[in-house]
Amino acid sequence: MGILVVGSVALDSVQTPFGREQEILGGSAVYFSIAASYFTNVSVVAVVGEDFPQAHVAFLQKFGIDTAGLERKPGRTFRWQGEYSFDLNTARTLDTQLNVFAEFSPKLLSQQRTLEYLFLGNIDPDLQRKVLEQMQRPKIVACDTMNYWIERKPESLRRMVALVDILIINDAETRQMAGEANLIRAANVILGWGPRAIVIKRGEYGALMIDREAAFGAPAFPLTDVADPTGAGDSFAGGFIGYLAATGTQDSAALRKAVVFGSVMASFNVSEFGPRRLAALTYPEIEGRFREFRDLTRFEDI
Ligand code: AMP
Repeated sequence: MGILVVGSVALDSVQTPFGREQEILGGSAVYFSIAASYFTNVSVVAVVGEDFPQAHVAFLQKFGIDTAGLERKPGRTFRWQGEYSFDLNTARTLDTQLNVFAEFSPKLLSQQRTLEYLFLGNIDPDLQRKVLEQMQRPKIVACDTMNYWIERKPESLRRMVALVDILIINDAETRQMAGEANLIRAANVILGWGPRAIVIKRGEYGALMIDREAAFGAPAFPLTDVADPTGAGDSFAGGFIGYLAATGTQDSAALRKAVVFGSVMASFNVSEFGPRRLAALTYPEIEGRFREFRDLTRFEDI
């Protein structure tokens, strides 16, 4: 079962304590679709400028990603510049240039409207809503956002959140969106707006899924080498939705497994700059790490 993703396709310039890279392929839709492509078919809705290298489009197509909805418009591609210090959990945005995204008005192709899974990647919440409104009847709609949009468009975002099934955001965004310092209270405030579940990404501390009945926590994989956390959140979402779409399940056991597959994909992604490691994976490696996650949290009740 296929997934539709709308999000940014970017040229990222990133600096971490372990290196720096200029104008490399990035963006929420890119990390999400590569991660999800290991599980099922993915179709992208996004815009790039005239300066976007055709080689990047060919790179995405190598994963079977449908790029028919990747529009090329006059102007410059979206650019993001960010920095991580030794605390790799938080990115500091140095510069955001929306460029062609500022005028983007997504129009879905007919075959995209019937897809059953929709991921609204981090982008202007008004664009997220424009995509959602064109969908026929998706089985699961999940969405992400970031401080940039929480600060600039809180009302649009709140309206969006009311329409989605699952919100996948990080801990700081959860607190900021709800205006509440305690993470669990903040999650409950947001659940009150409508979504069925909220999945909170907590960087090296793992992920926490909260719904009205229960909470589920997964640790992060204990890695010795983290080069660049960019895209961890989107590759998490790609593994999460990818697993649900591939299996067609959405009961609470499936959602828990999906959190672990999300954590698996994020753990691979951060070990190299950009989407490089994500792009070099094999499915047996993904399954192998899934089993390692199970061992990581297994304990006996004696
Ligand atoms: P994450 O998975 O949260 O690390 O997201 C990383 C990606 O988000 C980067 O590749 C950026 O290009 C992209 N990004 C950063 N700021 C924005 C923004 N304001 N809107 C859309 N995408 C963004």
